[in-house]
Amino acid sequence: MLETVSKGFKAARNKLKGRTEITPEVVDDALRDIRVSLLEADVSFDVVKRFVARVREKAIGEVVETKVKTEKGQLRVTPQDHFVKICHDELEALMGPVDTSLRQGERGRPTGIMMVGLQGSGKTTTAGKIANRLLKDGKQVMLVAADVYRPAAVDQLKVLGERLGVPVFHEPGVSPPDMCRHAFEAAQRDHRNAVIYDTAGRLAIDDELMTELENIKANVAPENILLVADAMIGQDAVKTATEFDRRLAIDGFILTKLDGDARGGAALSIKEVTGKPIKFLGMGEALDRLEEFRPEGLASRILG
Ligand code: GDP
Repeated sequence: MLETVSKGFKAARNKLKGRTEITPEVVDDALRDIRVSLLEADVSFDVVKRFVARVREKAIGEVVETKVKTEKGQLRVTPQDHFVKICHDELEALMGPVDTSLRQGERGRPTGIMMVGLQGSGKTTTAGKIANRLLKDGKQVMLVAADVYRPAAVDQLKVLGERLGVPVFHEPGVSPPDMCRHAFEAAQRDHRNAVIYDTAGRLAIDDELMTELENIKANVAPENILLVADAMIGQDAVKTATEFDRRLAIDGFILTKLDGDARGGAALSIKEVTGKPIKFLGMGEALDRLEEFRPEGLASRILG
């Protein structure tokens, strides 16, 4: 996972290895490796530029001054350690802060969680994963199959619901905004704690889809709108995110397929570009493969 991003940081670290003193030229040389691998991982160009500038400023200011001192034969912080620490902090700042909370429905209102995203991003699977998570917290959940254009999506959600023991609401022939409203009313009647709306995706963003999603939002006023994005698609994921956010004012992201050999660019760009937090990571197809997003954890994985 994230091998492409990691590669540059590893190369940079090797350039600093064993050095007791370093120069701005060495820092720049190391940063070149980082820049190349970030671009290769499809991190947004502007994000790469700003990130590298921030690390450079700190590294030139601090690391170049760091000299290894021995005290009774013990090594103190090396320039390499110091450089890695700066990279770690800046990666964490780029992707953080931690915000994995879901907003709760007020006074007996079921908490609404609306899943949006492009087709194939992992929306339906992730709806099941969120349901699974809420069940483990002792919540009564309802799933809503509102992706009516892809019949397989309805069946897929029904299978997930059956496996989890969670009811799946679906009304054939009813428009998704109406169906979601009916689902919300049913969930409220049944005293469910949460309703998860699995909405339609498209291969690319189009106005009709966005209007439908806006209508669902207007009908059910979900406490949380979560955009599911495939981490493999890099900068495209960021463009998609920006457009969804403009139309729907999303609350946060779930990045999926980070278990694959994802280039992972989206993980590094999406927060910086949209200002909205990454809340969860999809780490596999199974229902329990959903992790809360921890920027420091991902920074550590990247730095190896
Ligand atoms: P939707 O069209 O957005 O509803 O996408 P689906 O939920 O049908 O997911 C599309 C494909 O991605 C399916 O084969 C899922 O099993 C797979 N998938 C979803 N999330 C993950 C993940 O975190 N890791 C991996 N490896 N596969 C995933």
